[in-house]
Formats: sequence, structure tokens, C-alpha cells
Amino acid sequence: MIDFDDKIAVAVSGGKDSVSLLHILAKIERKHPKAELVAITVDEGIKGYRDEALKIAAENCRKLGIEHRVVSFKELFGYTFDQMTKRLKRKGGNRLTPCAYCGVLRRKALNVVAREIKADKLATAHTLDDETQTILLNIFHGDVLRIAKEKPVTDEVHPKLVRKIKPFCEIPEREAALYAMVKDIRFQSEPCPYASEALRNDARMMLNRLEEKHPGMKFAIFNSIKRIRPALEEMAKKEELKECSECGEPTTDNICRTCQMRKQIE
Ligand code: SF4
Ligand code: ZN
Repeated sequence: MIDFDDKIAVAVSGGKDSVSLLHILAKIERKHPKAELVAITVDEGIKGYRDEALKIAAENCRKLGIEHRVVSFKELFGYTFDQMTKRLKRKGGNRLTPCAYCGVLRRKALNVVAREIKADKLATAHTLDDETQTILLNIFHGDVLRIAKEKPVTDEVHPKLVRKIKPFCEIPEREAALYAMVKDIRFQSEPCPYASEALRNDARMMLNRLEEKHPGMKFAIFNSIKRIRPALEEMAKKEELKECSECGEPTTDNICRTCQMRKQIE
């Protein structure tokens, strides 16, 4: 996943997974003088939630001596996430959950900053749990080709897309949390107020129930997809990447999902 001289942007939300990842990457980086780490935190603008996470992310970066960049939805898209959800609610007829919007906008924000700082890779702390939930969610949404695109190390598909890596993709969430606890690392445990509305929660509960009864189930799903992925990638290759006619970011449509969502919000 990582080369000895990579500049790595690490997405740090302040939660247990991302702060554990930051500490582990910092430990690895110390042995590689040509490598560089920069932490990026996205401030969605979620009142009573993100402020504390920002402080925790900053505190961890300070302790590790890592540069910390913060990018907000407000500065990038003109609204805080709370303002966006209010506008969408007022308009009605919206079938997507808040997390569906937040996820798309956050991915864009991280890519924009990672590209600005000329990072070679963008590391996110997706764990085995996140990966298996995402696989199920893509199936629930009938969007199986996304499984090919969201692999643990993405290819160089477009000069404007920073390659993504997921160093924790085979680490169960509980182990990432355990690492933070054993190392006495401070992280945010308060859940996001929008999280309960997400379909991901149902996928999480379903998978945890299965794992409890049949240990190893999450690894089995992850490894099955690893074997199927090359076939899915072949199918996904037919999708050509263009540049969005509104913002110029890479997309398979004429207008990227971020701009489609922004228009809906506006
Ligand atoms: Fe965004 Fe949903 Fe995560 Fe909250 S739980 S930060 S709304 S993706
Ligand atoms: Zn766009």
C-alpha cells in the first residue's frame, strides 16, 4: 500500500479508528525519513458533534508532530451540513439519508485537499467492519460495480483523483478500538446525531449478529469479494471517466454526484 517515499494524507475524523491509524502510520513513518504524513479533518458543520472531534484530532496531531489541515463543508460548498439537511427537509421528497449526502461530499473534500498538498496516497481508516458493511450496502442499492471501485488500494485512474489506501481493511473495528485504549490514545466516542438514520446501521447490526453466531463471517465476506473483484473490475472498465461540466472533478456522468447534490440542496 505504501512506498518508502510517499507523502500520505490521512483522513482523521477524531474517532477511534482514524486516530489509531494515525498513530500507527506515524510509527511506521519514523523509520522512513523520505516519507511524509499530513492529517486532514473534514469539518462537516454538525453542531455538538464535530467541534469535539476537531479538538481531539488536533491534539493527536500535535502530540505526534504531524501537520493538520482542516477543510469545512461551509468553505467548500457554501453551507454547513446542518444547514444542508434543514434545506433538504424543507424541500421534502428526499429519499436519501443524510449520510448518503455527507459521504459523497466528504469524499470530495478529502480528495481536493489531498490533491492540493500533492499527496501520493490518501489513507482512510476503513476497518473490516466498514468494508463488509459497504459491500452489503452496494448490493442493497443495486450498485455492485462500486464494489470494484472501492477496493483497498485504488488504481491511478485520473490525474485529479488521489489514490486511496485502506490500511485497516482487514482489521476488525474492535481491534482498532482496543489499540487506542491500550495505547491510551484519546478519541471521540460520541456518535454523530445523524448516524441512527443510516442504512449502514442495519447492515452493521446484521453483520454483528452473524459474526457472533458464526465467527469469521466478516473475513469470509471480505475474502469472497476479493476473489470476485477482478471480474467486477472488468465490467467497471467500460465506464469512462470524464470531467464534471460544473466543477471539473472526475466523474462517470456529465455532472458529478457532488454537483447534483449541491443543486438539490440549493
Ligand atoms: Fe456524516 Fe453520517 Fe458520518 Fe454523521 S454519521 S459524519 S452524517 S456520514
Ligand atoms: Zn461537479
